[in-house]
Amino acid sequence: QTRMQVTGVPVDNIDMDGVVDHAQKMVAGNQQCTIFAMNPEKAVASLDDPELYDCLNSAGLLIADGIGIILASRIHGVPFKSRVPGSELMPRLCEMAAANSYPIFLFGAKEETNKLAAEKLVQTYPGLIIAGRQNGYVDESGMPDLINTINESGAKLLFVALGSPKQEYWMNQYKAQLDVLILQGVGGTFDVISG
Ligand code: UDP
Repeated sequence: QTRMQVTGVPVDNIDMDGVVDHAQKMVAGNQQCTIFAMNPEKAVASLDDPELYDCLNSAGLLIADGIGIILASRIHGVPFKSRVPGSELMPRLCEMAAANSYPIFLFGAKEETNKLAAEKLVQTYPGLIIAGRQNGYVDESGMPDLINTINESGAKLLFVALGSPKQEYWMNQYKAQLDVLILQGVGGTFDVISG
């Protein structure tokens, strides 16, 4: 087990290769895994918000996104191997998906951003299959249709870019209804990729 407590906040002590390897094994074994990112903002917010704490702690993997968490781990005597920025993990998972022909789905961000991110990813990772995509401006009444669309797409990996903690709550609410195996909350990463 890699889950540690750093200043009362849960985080996994695992490096980038370890996360990619774990994700690949989960897909190969037909098991679902949510990947959330821990950063100082979420850490502080979760300390006096038990619902957020439980939401984050329920992640299959809680990556140390940012130097703040690594510094805290060193100060508190649980030195972490390295940071795993969510914005760097997503491209690595896309590379893994392309290599294994695992289709991906992109949910979140503005329409133009989402579309551009999909185009850039296909250019960067030849053979990457984008099973579908949806901008992040779907209201509650549209969720059943979206869940069906994602399931019917055959996607094995789902990237969710709704900002935090919205995306984490969304993934926890819908993961049981979703057939995707890897769900990563990526915040503003579609904006980075499309930019
Ligand atoms: N977003 C969205 N739907 C919403 C709210 C936000 O798709 O209802 C998108 C927004 O367009 C942006 C991303 O979520 O692409 C939020 O990025 P931000 O950098 O604020 O997230 P953070 O990484 O700080 O959590």
